Amino acid sequence: MQEQKTKDIVKKYGFKFTKSLGQNFLTDDEVLKDIVDGANITKDDFIIEIGPGVGTLTRLLLDSAKKVCAVELDSSLIPILQEELNDFENFTLINEDALKIDFNKIIGDETSVKVVANLPYYVTTPIITKILIEGYKFKSLTIMIQKEVAERMASKPDCKDYGALSLLVQYYCDANIVRKVPPTAFIPQPKVDSIVIKLDKLNEPRVKVKDEKLFFMVIRSAFNMRRKTLWNALKVLKLDKEAYEQAFLNANIDPKRRGETLSIEEFANLSNEIYKKKNC
Ligand code: SAM
Repeated sequence: MQEQKTKDIVKKYGFKFTKSLGQNFLTDDEVLKDIVDGANITKDDFIIEIGPGVGTLTRLLLDSAKKVCAVELDSSLIPILQEELNDFENFTLINEDALKIDFNKIIGDETSVKVVANLPYYVTTPIITKILIEGYKFKSLTIMIQKEVAERMASKPDCKDYGALSLLVQYYCDANIVRKVPPTAFIPQPKVDSIVIKLDKLNEPRVKVKDEKLFFMVIRSAFNMRRKTLWNALKVLKLDKEAYEQAFLNANIDPKRRGETLSIEEFANLSNEIYKKKNC
């Protein structure tokens, strides 16, 4: 049903898909329903949708939530969305780049904020990183993303997909996969499989760290040189040899281990010990 509706809208407005903007529009009714159900939306919720496209998911969100604010980069979609969603008084639309926007200006005094999106795949990781690191007061992010990226987010130590993105996401959130989605659920069809994942923001970050910047720097350095031992990979932090040895000893971590074997708690311990050595 939705497939024909989307085709009709595309034809009616003469809309031309822009591949470089990741424009794969979701047309599968069951997947659309699963996203809305998975996001657990109530009439108290303020929803931010990134990349509404022709408004298919937006319409369902508008039916379930208190308000929806959609951020769309492609100016040619703005008049389409304005006309197609004209009946909804709880809808606002912003024609901006989600990577550049200050979400606090949208959120204002809202207290129950949820992000729901079928994200453009070319900017998935930068958008999620921005939302997490800039500390916006959202409750959850329910997003459709490329399968490989979702697997990296949910991955655990010693798994091949475990890396800096797993630790960034799990530092701030619990990650739960809602469902898989095949390419046939979109027009045009992407070349990759997709996954809907829900990230529930924790009240406090998962581990206590003395310096978040240093914590993420230790993680990035450890995974930049994935095959190297931690001892070699973390030399970029430029601690003198004795302090460096002591930090590993105090954190109870063998420097011959590789970053991919460390749990988030171990990364926190190590970065806290490095912090102490750097600041004494
Ligand atoms: N939500 C629609 C759906 O599910 O059918 C469309 C999803 S489509 C995968 C991604 C949407 O994000 C497109 O409408 C695209 O124009 C928009 N987009 C791409 N880059 C963007 C950016 N940096 N900021 C905001 N929107 C963007």
